[in-house]
This record gives sequence, C-alpha cells and structure tokens, in this order.
Amino acid sequence: MAPEGKPLVIALEEHYYDPEVAKTFDGPEGRAPEIRRRLDDLGELRLKEMDEAGIDVQVLSHGAPSTQRLDAPTAVRLARDANDRLAKVIAARPDRFAGFAALPTPDPKAAAAELERTISELGFKGAMVHGLTNGVFFDDKRFWPIFERAQALDVPLYVHPAAPHSAVVDAYYKDYVKDFPAILNAAWGFTVETATQGIRLVLSGVFDAYPDLKIILGHMGEGLPFLLWRIDHALSRPGNRRIAFREQFSRHFYITTSGNFSTPALLCSMMELGVDRILFSVDWPFVQNVPGTKWMSELQLSAEDKTKILSGNAKRLLKM
Ligand code: MN
Repeated sequence: MAPEGKPLVIALEEHYYDPEVAKTFDGPEGRAPEIRRRLDDLGELRLKEMDEAGIDVQVLSHGAPSTQRLDAPTAVRLARDANDRLAKVIAARPDRFAGFAALPTPDPKAAAAELERTISELGFKGAMVHGLTNGVFFDDKRFWPIFERAQALDVPLYVHPAAPHSAVVDAYYKDYVKDFPAILNAAWGFTVETATQGIRLVLSGVFDAYPDLKIILGHMGEGLPFLLWRIDHALSRPGNRRIAFREQFSRHFYITTSGNFSTPALLCSMMELGVDRILFSVDWPFVQNVPGTKWMSELQLSAEDKTKILSGNAKRLLKM
C-alpha cells in the first residue's frame, strides 16, 4: 500500500508473455534476454522493480502481437488459456496486479464472448488489442461485436501498437531498418500504425453506433493530441463527409504516458483532452519504471492533477 500522503500509483500498459502465446510469434532472435526475462516474470523481479519505482499496481497485458496474428481456432483456444493463467497470477496478488484480457480478434464473435467472460468471471478491467488482426484494421465492421460488448460491459479497449504491415515496411522503412531497427517499432512505425487505428476508428462511425465506447491509446496518444486541430480542420474542408473529429476523439479516447515521459507532450495533451483523460503508464519492461515515476514526482503540477494521472483516473475508468 502507498504510504500516507503518497498517491497510489497504477500503471496500465505493463506487459508479460504467456509461454504458450509467445511460442506462436517468438522468432529465432526473439527479444533481448534481459527484456525476455522480465516479460516471463510475474513475481519476484517484476515486483522488485515496481517497488523500486513506487508502482503499487500493474494492470498486466500480453506483449504484441498477442493473439492478433493467429488462425481463428488457435487464437480462441490460446487467448482463453492465457487469460485463465493470467487470472491465477492476479488472484495470488490482487493488491499488486490487475489485468487486461487478450482477445482472439481473428474470430470477432468469440473475442466478444471472451471479453465478457474475462470481465464477468475473471474480474479483468478491459482488453488490449495489438495492431492489425491478420492485416485488417480494428475499425472493420467484422470487429464491431467486440465494441458492442465493450460498451455493454462498460470497459475500455486498449489499442496497442504492433509491427506495421509488411507492405508499409517495404515502402516506407526498409532502407533504414538495418541501422535503425527501432524505426519499425517504438521510434516511429508503431506510432503511425496506432495513430491510424485511432483515426480510422473515428471515421468508421463506431462511436455513433456505440456512444459510450471507451478507447485507450498509449504513448501519450500516439501523437494524436498534437495533431487533433489539424486533422479536424482538414476534415472540415469541402469534399469530406461531415464529422466532428476532434469532439469525438476527445469524448471517447483516454491516453496513457507509456514510453513517453515528455512534459511538453503532456502539457499539449492536458490542453487538448484535459487531465481527466491522461493515465500514468510505463510500458515495462521495454521502458524502465524509475524514470517514469521520477518524471511524475518532479513534474510541476498540482497534487490533485498528479493524483488523477497516477491513479485517480484509472480507478474511475477501470473501476478499481
Ligand atoms: Mn506497450
């Protein structure tokens, strides 16, 4: 528990690997050993590094691409088993861990059912979906049963990055990948991919169909808070169907600070979305915990707003 006067610290984008799911995507090189050791750890090492940084609770989620690139029957079976295993970990330390479900999006109806099962039976707080599902963006109508169920259950869906489509890699990044592999992922490729997911969700009309749907984006909103005015302005020019882009984004999206401990980016996000929409996260183990909590503690921000970011908003959004 947090000592008297110190706000509770909840982090929302904190990853792990389920052994059976990881087997399906882990290439020969895999993750760097020090990262992999942490992804595999759901006990001592994870808790030690949480304690060192003053993080009270991690909302655990699988690492990318989770079950988004499997065939439908495999995805359904593995997501269910992985969620059951995660529920046991959380049940052993409910004071330190909560969970976002892995969803078998290759079978959207089964994914909606699995969302309901993990919320109602396992006590999960929402679900995380990673990048494209076998090449298809999440706004596609086939996935709408998942949004319908998320609204009915009143839980958020966390839209997380995964590697860009191979055609995009070829056309946009290939010549720089050898010297700068991060261009494909956290340095830029992830951001473009996930910002596109966010934009497409608004354009799709899914928020008209499900007016209480809540989406979380990591990495301080994947650049979108900085770009909202321009996107909105451009979409209002002649030739575009009428859409209240900025208004819809601000109403339906929450963002986390995962992997983006930038004060200018935070200020921009606070001005665009308001402090109530911003939730602390690290993106452990790809990003370390201590720089995240140190950044928050040194931030010149009112104690009330800091408490909202560190846990108040999460308590409300995730009903914790
Ligand atoms: Mn992440």
